[in-house]
Amino acid sequence: MKTQLIKINSSNKNKVLSIAADLIKKGDVVAFPTETVYGLGANALDENAVKKIFVAKGRPNDNPLIVHISNINQLNELVEFVPKKAEILIKKYWPGPLTIVMKKSFKIPMCITGGLNTVAIRMPSDNNALELIKKSGCPIAAPSANSSTKPSPTMAKHVMNDLNGKIPLIIDGGKCKVGLESTVIGLSNDKAILFRPGKITKEEIGRLIGKVDLPCEQSKIPSSPGMKYKHYSPKAKITLVEAKINTNKKGTDFLNVVKKFSLNESNDLIGIISFTKRVGFENEFFFNKSVNLYAKNLFFVLREFDKRGLKKIIVEGVNDNGFGLALMNRLRKASSKII
Ligand code: AMP
Ligand code: MG
Repeated sequence: MKTQLIKINSSNKNKVLSIAADLIKKGDVVAFPTETVYGLGANALDENAVKKIFVAKGRPNDNPLIVHISNINQLNELVEFVPKKAEILIKKYWPGPLTIVMKKSFKIPMCITGGLNTVAIRMPSDNNALELIKKSGCPIAAPSANSSTKPSPTMAKHVMNDLNGKIPLIIDGGKCKVGLESTVIGLSNDKAILFRPGKITKEEIGRLIGKVDLPCEQSKIPSSPGMKYKHYSPKAKITLVEAKINTNKKGTDFLNVVKKFSLNESNDLIGIISFTKRVGFENEFFFNKSVNLYAKNLFFVLREFDKRGLKKIIVEGVNDNGFGLALMNRLRKASSKII
């Protein structure tokens, strides 16, 4: 299959989104930008179309997909009911990078939920994504548009690298603003569970709806299936140095760790992601204490280091608070060693 990559701009927008919507309508898949990462979308109510997503990504069948909507009226037919806490969050954060898990209605095919009786739903704020959903006339199931286990794509060229020849169309809308996947909050039960941290933080959600648990604090409730899979992994081995504030450990100064780990290795084969102070290596990205910038560029940097053929990556962690929790969640999952 030939994969078309089309740059979208204000003058061709209508035409490009119509081409994409036609593909969705006829049961095909399309990669499109959202504010979080690029998504690989198909008609959520068409089982055969949804199966194409799993095939293209090589995604395990029990890892459920997020259903994207463009209008709040679409929600009622997709869930059994909308819990009060969900209503509060929707009012504040939709459209935006917050996914809410609720009890599914009979309309949602089982292949979307990986056999669960709940469904994850989000209304993205990216204008092209919203328009595409509107034009397609259906809710769009869309996981991130990467090959399974690769870092999520934050630029159209990342999608091309992973899925060239496997999907008909990639819409290039530039670099994603947030850069990490949406926050996923479970509300299908009395308790609110943070299945995946993201841009909308645990603290913000807690202020609006009360206590938010982490999945590990719950024993009886099944956790989010996606959490068990290895994610975000580039080819190079990543060593993560936790921020001191998270571990209370002494002697784990980032510069010292870099010195120790680079002793027997040529420095030009080592990638560094620094946060508080520049180390001075050739392959280094420095984010100068900006969690937003770090998050926005993390997946790009991991892919860039792979492209450069680096053997080792050493990254400086951040405080687990706020959006930092999401960044650390992705970094910990991507790392083979944590110090
Ligand atoms: P992706 O869109 O590829 O970033 O993955 C979707 C994420 O949402 C995965 O981590 C899933 O486990 C999670 N998810 C989707 N549906 C559900 C659900 N019904 N219950 C819990 N987590 C879900
Ligand atoms: Mg994903």
